[in-house]
Amino acid sequence: MKQKIKFISIILAALTAVVFAVGCGSTESAAPSAAPTVITAVPAESPSAEAAATPTPTPEPTPEPTPEFTSALTQIQPKEGYMEPDSLEGIDPLNDKVVALTFDDGPHPENTPRLLDILKENDAVATFFMVGTNAAEYPDIVKRVYDEGHEIGTHSWNHKDLKKLSLDEIMVDQYGKANDAIEAATGLRALIDRPPYGSMTEELAQQIGREQILWSVDPEDWKYKDADTVYDHVVNGTDNGGYVKDGGIVLSHDIHATTIDAYERIIPALKEEGYKFVTVTQMMQIAEIRGKEIEYRFGHAPAAEEAAQAKETTDTEA
Ligand SMILES: [Zn+2]
Repeated sequence: MKQKIKFISIILAALTAVVFAVGCGSTESAAPSAAPTVITAVPAESPSAEAAATPTPTPEPTPEPTPEFTSALTQIQPKEGYMEPDSLEGIDPLNDKVVALTFDDGPHPENTPRLLDILKENDAVATFFMVGTNAAEYPDIVKRVYDEGHEIGTHSWNHKDLKKLSLDEIMVDQYGKANDAIEAATGLRALIDRPPYGSMTEELAQQIGREQILWSVDPEDWKYKDADTVYDHVVNGTDNGGYVKDGGIVLSHDIHATTIDAYERIIPALKEEGYKFVTVTQMMQIAEIRGKEIEYRFGHAPAAEEAAQAKETTDTEA
């Protein structure tokens, strides 16, 4: 309950910030000055998740509801039967340097627990976008992810390209069924989704009624399967895959041992650079507070520095 109140007060603070920014009549100058990080349209996901599909007779899947799409704020409101959005306790949204690490396609029986150990050692949080078939096969790992304070999102039932399916198939057979598996393991459904391959259109996202979380940094860990390369791509960045910066969301896959080897070093390296790790629902709230207009292709939040510059401009003009 306390958490809920805290969360609501954060939302109010965010709304106040937005109203303030709009009230100053300088929405243009409040926009982040740096060019937005490029989100590569290339399908960049491992197809191996499909192999794990073992058809077992299951009860009728629960369709995911399709709320009226307004903004990310709708999605991170506490909702009966769903996991609570993480509060911003301990985070200074306007001054901390934040990054969200996200891991897709799991859980994996060996690699996910190893990653959880590394996160625990470093007192770090991450977000896991789970494939339903794997969540159904490894409920104990799903529960461990949740119990250790990480965030869980859906990543479809069996890694289908959602653009090729009807809305009904997406909400019932993909997101709905995946969330049934997550609920069976944790008792609660996930609030957030990531479409496989990042395959999504604005129109479809609006029909789904929830933000479809993409990423700003893609180290292509599934392709290189080499720890040194993945380390280099995340910590130093690449023109194709993007560069880690304040407000970034990094895409990786916890089904590859080489990815976990890389993160053994990536997490301490990013900490050394002053980053604080946040979950996706925390990043969505930080983005609102920093004045980012939420788009369906939610790739990253504006950096604190950009938000501060935008505020300075606003203050000078006002
Ligand atoms: Zn995937």
